[in-house]
Amino acid sequence: MKIVDIIPTVMQAGAPTVTSWTGAGGQSALATGRNWLFVKIITDEPGLIGVGEGSGWPRVIHTAINDLKCELIGHDPRDIERLWQRMRIAMMGHGDTGVVGAGAITAIDMALWDIKGKLHSTPVWNMLGGKVRDKVRYYAHAKNAASAVKLVSNGVTTVKLGGHDGLVERVAEVREAVGTHIDIIVDLHGPPWLPAIDAIAIGKALEPYNLLFLEDPVAPEDIDGWKRVRRALPHTPLAGGERLATKWGAASLIESGVVDIIQPDMGRAGGITEMKKIAALAEARFIQVAPHSGSLGPVAEYASIHVMAAIPNALLMERLEPEWHGKAAVIHPALESSQGHIIVPERPGLGVDLVENFIAAHPSERNVSIATGGWQDAEEHGSTYFSMRRSRANLVSVKKDPIL
Ligand SMILES: [Mg+2]
Repeated sequence: MKIVDIIPTVMQAGAPTVTSWTGAGGQSALATGRNWLFVKIITDEPGLIGVGEGSGWPRVIHTAINDLKCELIGHDPRDIERLWQRMRIAMMGHGDTGVVGAGAITAIDMALWDIKGKLHSTPVWNMLGGKVRDKVRYYAHAKNAASAVKLVSNGVTTVKLGGHDGLVERVAEVREAVGTHIDIIVDLHGPPWLPAIDAIAIGKALEPYNLLFLEDPVAPEDIDGWKRVRRALPHTPLAGGERLATKWGAASLIESGVVDIIQPDMGRAGGITEMKKIAALAEARFIQVAPHSGSLGPVAEYASIHVMAAIPNALLMERLEPEWHGKAAVIHPALESSQGHIIVPERPGLGVDLVENFIAAHPSERNVSIATGGWQDAEEHGSTYFSMRRSRANLVSVKKDPIL
């Protein structure tokens, strides 16, 4: 069997062109200029096509996949590990992969697993060792107590809050609103302006609220900072890894002993092949896996379910905007969920098809998403990732009006 073609397609998943599908500006986290990158791998077996998705930087991944074609066309799609290594070696001349290169590998690797599953008429999870579970718990994002209560009323068992201003107060309000049986996650986003000592102050202020985990208290590159946070917050589980690619990226946090949960991104960590290896590295250190989903489309969500179904140390997965109908529009069938869990699909391969005419009707127009506030001078303080170092009083304030 041979690969005869690889076709990447990038589409606009959110604004700037706001339609009834993308959602009104500001209403959807995806309506900030996100793209989704899907790939189809065509084989010489009639009708045997694999689908995948990469999420590192979709437009750049589109180019990377086209560049990688010459390394893959004519090769046997069943030799997934060998092709993974060919792709990685092909990128070494560019200085290794990063999340963009790993995003390209991810999309192709995912489609290869889809082909193999379809070839053997079995789900991907079955080829990864079989099912450990029939459903996978997910968490969704809440901005405040009202949105958390709405999610919980729809069956969600775990909510995540992010940002920094008024954070402690918002967590307190959410805890009071949802009760003690719902898990709460807080994401500090590891911005460059937040030093470990302030992340520790925030973490200590959050201790009474019994977090499921505190995510990215400092940047992934700041291993010394992570170690300081770890020592200072012995009772708070820590999670990180969304900005890291491949097993080697994940190993930097896992082997440092600073995380309780590793969060590789299913769209850019290196594919199903690499997620399984990262999970094994984590398992060896009694660390759990909670895949990140910053801008994942629905095909990568499918892949995540297969991996989470088959690994023993699956905690739960992030699901951005689970109730947004836009995800279901680009695939068939939609993922089935119930009571805060996604049901593990039983169909061969990934078990999902692209709705190609819908994807073609929403071409990519922009591929850079600047967080709230953009780069305008007057609004820099509103950005999660770019800011002057904030007032310490504001960071741990429980007052409604931030002290700026
Ligand atoms: Mg995060």
